[in-house]
Amino acid sequence: MSVLAAAASTGTSTSDTSPGTSTPVDLGPASALSCRECGERFPLAPAFACTSCFGPLEAAYDLPLGDPEGLRRRIEAGPPSIWRYAPLLPVPADVADKPNLAPGWTQLVKADRLAAELGVTGGLYVKDDSGNPTHSFKDRVVANAVEAARAFGFTTLSCSSTGNLAGAVGAAAARAGLRSCVFIPHDLEQGKVVMAAVYGGDVVGIEGTYDDVNRFCSELIGDPAGEGWGFVNVNLRPYYAEGSKTLAYEICEQLGWRLPDQLVVPIASGSQLTKIDKGLRELIATGLVEEKPYKIFGAQAAGCSPVSQAFKAGHEVVRPVRPDTIAKSLAIGNPADGPYVLDIARRTGGAVEDVSDPEIVDAIKLLARTEGIFAETAGGVTVGVTRKLIEAGALDPSLTTVVLNTGDGLKTLDAVAPTTGPTAIIRPNLDSFREAGLAS
Ligand SMILES: *Cc1c(COP(=O)(O)O)cnc(C)c1O
Repeated sequence: MSVLAAAASTGTSTSDTSPGTSTPVDLGPASALSCRECGERFPLAPAFACTSCFGPLEAAYDLPLGDPEGLRRRIEAGPPSIWRYAPLLPVPADVADKPNLAPGWTQLVKADRLAAELGVTGGLYVKDDSGNPTHSFKDRVVANAVEAARAFGFTTLSCSSTGNLAGAVGAAAARAGLRSCVFIPHDLEQGKVVMAAVYGGDVVGIEGTYDDVNRFCSELIGDPAGEGWGFVNVNLRPYYAEGSKTLAYEICEQLGWRLPDQLVVPIASGSQLTKIDKGLRELIATGLVEEKPYKIFGAQAAGCSPVSQAFKAGHEVVRPVRPDTIAKSLAIGNPADGPYVLDIARRTGGAVEDVSDPEIVDAIKLLARTEGIFAETAGGVTVGVTRKLIEAGALDPSLTTVVLNTGDGLKTLDAVAPTTGPTAIIRPNLDSFREAGLAS
């Protein structure tokens, strides 16, 4: 059952009471949770799996239909953050007045020099989410999860993280005045560990992969040791995930309320990609953009490419892998939303592709050299995959294309440090400079 059909058929909203509070849950236009597999509806609650079929739950809305001009004016008059889209998110109407990081409204960079290098003639854009408060796209999803945590009365914010999420949760909890305790694989990049810890919350390194961390967190949720904890990407996942829709909203608004023809999106769990598709469909349903075909392409690192492998083999299920790549923020070997990503890539006429670690490093440098944007490894993955898809003829260079950069290169310095450094070290005199061969 389509989410939009479910949203449109929503009758009265069911109010739920949360653990520890007796006030009805106010999450704005979100009126229920609905199962992505069987369509069954449940009241808003900290839940993530359907009790009938165990399918994943997602937020269903009373979308503001019927007055696209009014909605557009309201959005355009809103704050320069994701909260301008509050009428389309599971957050209370006064969300912008609360203490939070107000992420989003990041630059959509017209990347003409990169376009020339890649042979793109139809307009190439980089949506640069390194500009968020903790320098990755994760601030968008966490900001939504914080509102759900408040609504359900949770006092500790937690997560299982490949790195960026831990920092985003730490910062958001600090601003909101909540305790945080986050879980990460113990061998992450220093930049990510420090960024998670600096905000003063607890950071726990787990001896294992992200998939082990995630399994551990699921256990903790069912145990008294984790009582009263909101895990942004587990028991708050339906609310958290909606934050990724704002990437779709912003891209279209920044293009002048227009859909792009092609988008290249990184895949870790696959949540972001599926929600960008949901966001685009909501923009069409509410009349904010004119309907036309668009293609969504997924990007993975070859060292963790279960979705890409399934796409190429024509499979409908994703076989888990053990990650081994420098793109650690995308290193999820058993991606929860993998099958939905396959559906979307096939339905829209896109594809899923992967690039090797050396190609990722090359692409990071290409983007930096042509556009002055220093991406983390995930941005190297999307730019590298874009190049590969163009060369293979899968991505049409004559169409408007948006490539996502979801994180900041300063967090993954190790990826480029071995091949990037000073051109020369000289003595402080002109002779020495001339000897270095850099004089004009
Ligand atoms: C988490 C993350 C993603 C995407 O994650 P999904 O689980 O697929 O939603 C992309 N880029 C970066 C940098 C991330 O940290």
